[in-house]
Amino acid sequence: TSQPSESKVDVLIVGAGPAGLMMATWMAKCGISCRIVDKRGTKVFNGQADGLQCRTLEIFDSFGFGDRAWKEANHMLEICLWNPDKDGVIRRSDRIPDTIPGISRFQQVVLHQGRIERFFLDFIAAHSDIRVERGVLPSKLEFDESLAEDTDAYPITVTLRHLSEEEATPGQVATSANGGAVQDGLFRSNLAADDTADLLKAADLNAKANTTEVVRAKYMLGADGAHSWVRRELGFCLEGETTDYIWGVLDIVPLTNFPDIRSRCAIHSASSGSVMVIPRENKLVRLYIQLTTTEKLGEGGSRADRSKITPDVILKAAQKIMAPYTLSYRKLDWWTAYQIGQRVGSRFSKNERIFLAGDAVHTHSPKAGQGMNVSMQDAYNLGWKVASVVKGTSSRAILSTYESERKQIAKDLIDFDHRFSRLFSGRPAKDLMDEEGINMEQFKAAFEKGNMFASGIAVNYDASNIIAKTADTSSGGAKTTANLPSVDSTQALAPKVKVGMRMPSVKVLNQSDARPWHLQERLPSNGTWRVLVFAGDVGDAGQKARMLRLADSLAAPTSFLRRYTPAAARYDSVFEVLTVHAAPRASVTIFDFPEVLRPFDELDGWDYNKIFVDDESYHEGHGRIYEEFGIDPKEGCVIVLRPDQYVSYVGALDDYASVDKFFSSFMLSRQAQVNGK
Ligand code: FAD
Repeated sequence: TSQPSESKVDVLIVGAGPAGLMMATWMAKCGISCRIVDKRGTKVFNGQADGLQCRTLEIFDSFGFGDRAWKEANHMLEICLWNPDKDGVIRRSDRIPDTIPGISRFQQVVLHQGRIERFFLDFIAAHSDIRVERGVLPSKLEFDESLAEDTDAYPITVTLRHLSEEEATPGQVATSANGGAVQDGLFRSNLAADDTADLLKAADLNAKANTTEVVRAKYMLGADGAHSWVRRELGFCLEGETTDYIWGVLDIVPLTNFPDIRSRCAIHSASSGSVMVIPRENKLVRLYIQLTTTEKLGEGGSRADRSKITPDVILKAAQKIMAPYTLSYRKLDWWTAYQIGQRVGSRFSKNERIFLAGDAVHTHSPKAGQGMNVSMQDAYNLGWKVASVVKGTSSRAILSTYESERKQIAKDLIDFDHRFSRLFSGRPAKDLMDEEGINMEQFKAAFEKGNMFASGIAVNYDASNIIAKTADTSSGGAKTTANLPSVDSTQALAPKVKVGMRMPSVKVLNQSDARPWHLQERLPSNGTWRVLVFAGDVGDAGQKARMLRLADSLAAPTSFLRRYTPAAARYDSVFEVLTVHAAPRASVTIFDFPEVLRPFDELDGWDYNKIFVDDESYHEGHGRIYEEFGIDPKEGCVIVLRPDQYVSYVGALDDYASVDKFFSSFMLSRQAQVNGK
């Protein structure tokens, strides 16, 4: 018998769900050598998660495929709250916007997980040679801890087993009975053109069936879902409630006289429980119902008998809650019943070499549509960090921020889910004196507050070597003095651009051609840091002098721009300097700005996409970014953004020294081969 083949890769991803695919997307964009394996023979085609928060859409847009999701998805604008009146008959008691107006240039939309995975797969194929290897699963993991801090080492050794097609056939849906047929029928009729390649690939599986190979990796991501094999191999666990809730999910094209079926609805009946209605693409509607009370797991605890749950059981429950309105369906697209508890992973990383993301480190109810979003955002947080360490632009010191940042989010998510689920599952209060019941005013207030959290915009990362602010000691998050920031920000110079949060977006004009852009559109996810120079009113001599002093420092041969950008690399491959000034657009040209702010390239000429202005556009109004951000045009400021658009630092326009010090604490001038694009 021959020895298994052995190969090396920089990053190995286990699991090609939303979290694994997001990681692979970063690797593809940053040109990192990467393999991604999944035990399933095919991707998800329909069902499963469906809600996309506005922050997730911002992220998709930063990779360039936000428009696909935005066009195809159902836009969910309104939430209707339905409650029993004094006679116990359900009535609409309120309407609120689904996404808080003004927090993002996107609003929450709904599209099933299969399509979302498709967008990732297309992006990865267009930007790299990375392909999801299906029907492949790890069978052995070895980790040499002594090599963990050796940047060039491959401390991870994984044995991969290739399955036969039969073994790899998806167990995607927990639908036995008629469920399989429902799913099958749909993807053939609906999504065939797109997924043909996947189906053909399944046929290839058998060629390698039952072979094994050994892969040595520098970094690894376990994105292998709630039952994560990687997590178990590392000996980490999920901590939290031992109680599981059982959810029924039905995707149907409904026939109903309920008037708000095309709005998201939370319907509380007087005594038959509650249902969440989610209007979807292609006239579909999803109904979420918490089916039974709870089930204790643990010693001797048995799993719920899911075979008793059928689409009919879920439908009947919904009919009871929604009476006197009628509800039936013409088409059943997908359904499931699943059991889930509220838990957070004990650890998110082993020696900052092997990481866990997504359902592997947090599980919770599906009510607020958070699972897929938070899972993708975990990997979005991690991907650029691993890519810049592999490339040699950053030291390994930034990697510990993955656990400190994302574990806090996971905890916040579980707290949120606790509050939200309890409110939702509780019986409505009959009157003001009813202490057990849920008061509907409180419910509405909690819903509105919850919407801020659920949008993904509220994320506020704590102080670290890449978030320059004073540490928040109240939240009890993981803090080590080792990775505290080397400088502090002067938040007052841009009070609305919060250090630790994602950069808000306002329209600005391109100085050269007057085109309006959302500032966020100028921050694509490509692995570069951004230095935003808010130069202020450069018509003012004093203000212009301050900008010139900063530019002199940036252009000096010893500046961080020069030290950390490899000699052979493009001037904006590690840092991109973007200027937004506040003088009238017609009063200046780009040549009034020093060259470091609008660089020249021998082959390309001047770069016309670096200087922007806060001024009135011809067709789309005036963004008023200085006013929106609270920046004084007679003062200006410098804002440093991470490659994931989170604000790292805010400081004075001419305080070059602090920006340099900030980068010096984790960037490396030693350049490994730049294999990026
Ligand atoms: P997953 O999507 O679970 O992806 C993990 C991937 O890893 C899978 O492709 C799996 O095949 C692969 N894998 C697992 N083990 C191995 C292994 N040992 N080796 C190789 N590959 C492996 N969320 C909602 O918001 N709303 C819903 O209605 C909803 N319904 C759901 C219904 C079901 C049946 C399930 C399973 C989940 C549902 N979710 C829902 C949750 C949502 O799908 C997840 O939160 C989200 O997919 C998490 O993404 P992930 O990438 O972390 O994990």
